[in-house]
Amino acid sequence: MSMKNSSQWHSALAIYKRLGIRYISKTSTENMPISSVLSETVSVESVEPPMMENKAVESPVSHQGFKSSWITASADTIQAMELTAFERDICGCQKCPLGATRKNFVFGSGNPQAKVLFIGEAPGADEDEQGLPFVGRAGQLLTKIIESTQTWKRSDVFICNVLKCRPPGNRTPLPEEVEQCRPYLEEQIQIIKPRLIMALGAVAAQALLRSKDSVGKMRNRWHDHNGIPLRVTYHPAALLRFDGYKKDVWQDMKELTAKYQELEGLS
Ligand code: SF4
Repeated sequence: MSMKNSSQWHSALAIYKRLGIRYISKTSTENMPISSVLSETVSVESVEPPMMENKAVESPVSHQGFKSSWITASADTIQAMELTAFERDICGCQKCPLGATRKNFVFGSGNPQAKVLFIGEAPGADEDEQGLPFVGRAGQLLTKIIESTQTWKRSDVFICNVLKCRPPGNRTPLPEEVEQCRPYLEEQIQIIKPRLIMALGAVAAQALLRSKDSVGKMRNRWHDHNGIPLRVTYHPAALLRFDGYKKDVWQDMKELTAKYQELEGLS
């Protein structure tokens, strides 16, 4: 990289940081004057611009009017643009063998500025078919659970999985698959910056908390995931198999809602 390009690069990074952008990619900056200095996907440290928070900002990261099918809110926010760029960069991933057997990469869906992030295990058959998370029976139940709080619609929150590709036959993800895919989830969390996380089931909870405990042991208390309060509950698929979890899930959702109201100054 020449000195001139290097200084262009640092000025560009300074602009990104001022705008609160942490993720930029070669793909999404193709038409920018600085594209010649962008040689790889870059994650920059986020610097929150106080005046920009929750506003639609005309970002230098052009997405050329593209709106991903998973976005349920404005596509013109910084987070939407960052997530779209990130999805484009990783959707061809072949880091683990699941890349070869998937029909579709399942990035996640919802509001890129969601205050609450729900994280499940991995796509199932319906999700693999449609490229969207939680669209089968368990997904319909999750929508009911979220909306029964009367605090959020499904389109208000963001939903994704630890793994972005379906394990064959819906088997439990292998630890090495979780390790390979986890950085994508962590990047999504950093971009969305939710105020609360709900881990759905043992795989998500264990991956996020780096624990081997059961859901029964991890629920009923608040955890911390890099400064974000995290709650654990049963996966909706487990609820479909065993009705007895219903009361516990309802209790966990009540705790999540109460915490949200406390954080937002609504209680
Ligand atoms: S599961 Fe994750 S790591 Fe494996 S191929 Fe898919 S995106 Fe890549």
